[in-house]
Amino acid sequence: MTRAGIVTVVGKPNAGKSTLLNRIIGQKLSIVSPKPQSTRDRVVGIHSDGDVQMIILDTPGLLHPKYALQRAMRSTALQALKDADVIVHLVDVGEHSPEPLHVAAALEHPPRARVITALNKVDLLSAAQRGALALNSPDARLISAISGEGVPELLSFVAQHLPESPFLYPEDEVSTQHLRFFVSELIRETALEQLSDEVPYSMACEIEEFREQKQPVYIRAVLHVERDSQKRILIGAKGQRIRSIGQAARIKVESLLGQSVYLDLWVKVLPNWRKNAHALARFGYRVEEERQQ
Ligand code: GDP
Ligand code: MG
Repeated sequence: MTRAGIVTVVGKPNAGKSTLLNRIIGQKLSIVSPKPQSTRDRVVGIHSDGDVQMIILDTPGLLHPKYALQRAMRSTALQALKDADVIVHLVDVGEHSPEPLHVAAALEHPPRARVITALNKVDLLSAAQRGALALNSPDARLISAISGEGVPELLSFVAQHLPESPFLYPEDEVSTQHLRFFVSELIRETALEQLSDEVPYSMACEIEEFREQKQPVYIRAVLHVERDSQKRILIGAKGQRIRSIGQAARIKVESLLGQSVYLDLWVKVLPNWRKNAHALARFGYRVEEERQQ
């Protein structure tokens, strides 16, 4: 009998959700960044191992929603909680008194699914600190998403709580989302890496054209920002910064696709897109009304 189900990874910004997902899937799907709140849409990865299949959802941080963008992020996270068979609540070990998930996420009721708490970044602790932590938090799993320590044990524990079910997807399918989404995430990640703090959350990447039949593959992408001043920063003196972003992003996209790529990268101003429901929907964010559990 096989087991299969949805595993939602949830936690504060910077807890290491994307890092954990990438480790589990073994391929770079969700973007990892030291800047909080950079995962804007949930990424579905599929992990099939032996007789277990996990459909894994990464969530944006459960934030206090302020802009339309943040509301879209929170409703995405709430939906992913609702869809889950098992929830992995990832907590940074550096956090002193972490709240239970339903408190941290301001849910009316604790979620239906089994919640497994995983304390991440144990690689930063001494052996003595780990020992103390294991004693104080007997129900939590100690892991390091970066080194992989404790991750196989976490996965087998999660598997025990999945329902008996046939596999939900073909075994070799890594993701249900379009390649385009991952390409746009890689470009956005590269831009984040090369920029100072002024621009990041005002930036969305849209793939306007993706011609796989061409050799090299032709991809036209646009980085949308909210203001002219941000556009100038992104382009840089004599176009130097955007060229450098484009080159670095092309190398990542080539490694994802396994083919050479011509990346035609543009910067455009779309005033106040983060407050604009049409623009949010166009960039793939969910803008439906927030629904509680
Ligand atoms: P997210 O916002 O929850 O998706 O967090 P990310 O996966 O983007 O990680 C945030 C930061 O924490 C990044 O700089 C990661 O490299 C770092 N990080 C994630 N997991 C670990 C870990 O196990 N150990 C250490 N030392 N750092 C980690
Ligand atoms: Mg993330």
